[in-house]
Amino acid sequence: MEMGVTIESAIALTSIHSLPRVVETIPLNDAHGRILGISLHSKVDDPRFDNSAMDGWAVIETDCNTYPVKLKIIGTLQAGDDSDVVVEKGTACRIMTGAPVPNGADSIVMVEDSEVVGDEVIINGKARPNFIRIKGENITENEIGLNSGVLLGPAQLAMAAMMGYADVPVIKPPKIAIIGTGDELVEPGDILEPSQIYESNTTALVGLVSSMGCEPVKYPFVSDDIDQLREIFNQASLECDGILTSGGVSMGEWDLVRRLMEEEGDIKFWRIFIKPGGPPLFGLWNGTPLFGLPGNPVSSQVVFMTVVSPWISNSCGFDKSNGPKLFEKVRVKLLSDAKGTKKKVTLRRLNIFWQNDELVAEVPDNQGSGNLRSMVDCNGLSLLPIGVNGNAGDIVDALWLK
Ligand code: AMP
Ligand code: MG
Repeated sequence: MEMGVTIESAIALTSIHSLPRVVETIPLNDAHGRILGISLHSKVDDPRFDNSAMDGWAVIETDCNTYPVKLKIIGTLQAGDDSDVVVEKGTACRIMTGAPVPNGADSIVMVEDSEVVGDEVIINGKARPNFIRIKGENITENEIGLNSGVLLGPAQLAMAAMMGYADVPVIKPPKIAIIGTGDELVEPGDILEPSQIYESNTTALVGLVSSMGCEPVKYPFVSDDIDQLREIFNQASLECDGILTSGGVSMGEWDLVRRLMEEEGDIKFWRIFIKPGGPPLFGLWNGTPLFGLPGNPVSSQVVFMTVVSPWISNSCGFDKSNGPKLFEKVRVKLLSDAKGTKKKVTLRRLNIFWQNDELVAEVPDNQGSGNLRSMVDCNGLSLLPIGVNGNAGDIVDALWLK
């Protein structure tokens, strides 16, 4: 077991024990929000054939070098038409957007630049070759159009459809158990005794797990009782691919997740050099990867973002730029001081916004790791390196939360 690791080593140590990556095929129209499991090669050229980008006239460019000029109308082509019309010198074929460009024509005059008189058209504007969309200019048959690991949104799904896919191979969401722990916890809405609080961490974790393309499986939270914990760990390790717990990982007498993992599990590391979020642990319970996240509400979310989300991303082979992610790493100018920490990377909550073409960040006052409101009121986290203070005006790394 390693005692105290950097974020980078935590990510490296966890990625050895990855989630299963299983690919299943589902109908395209059910795939919104899923993650592509295998790269898709286009089954067609796009465009499939040279076609007009405008409603207008298919012509020979040199016929229209000087205008106005009269051309003889030799036919009409609508999108979907298949014709053997040939445009010759002195002629024009009426053409609609998306219709195949007839043989002989090398450019298009838009309809706004024309006037029909009997069986002739008077061209009043430029003939433009770039109004023809060339076969294969967007993608050619067999070329990869979508990379494995991309998140399928409307544009990606439309692309899959354009490439000819009725079904798509997607990653089967790994099942992640979510287990809250603590004697003080009460289900939101139930009656609170004076020393109790509403349980909130597992609700955040359900959202975070889903945003990362996994299936959250929320278990009833357990009190600080080692037998109950063991029982639920056993159940979760049978039913799920990974386990997240919240609470019970510090040095306290009642920090039983840590104790149980020490005595009966297999801890790979305990503590990460970050603030907030110091005491998390990672290990295996019956061979199933388990993250013991801290109980403090801000800490549990921060540790998920910095360590659990890269673990999921690496396990599932998400595309680095276009896969599911919870933040964008950016550089921001601090508008006020952000205190660092001697031996830890400091993730201060930030409010990031654009000001005069640069990203700037306010540093709100109340930065307690129990202050859930600070997560709601902010949209970013600083990444101050170990032992570094951020001063107003400094440009620092930050996570811009989605
Ligand atoms: P622990 O890590 O168990 O010592 O908990 C640290 C702090 O986080 C305590 O103030 C707990 O009451 C609080 N806490 C622990 N688990 C949760 C939870 N699931 N929801 C809300 N607060 C929690
Ligand atoms: Mg506790």
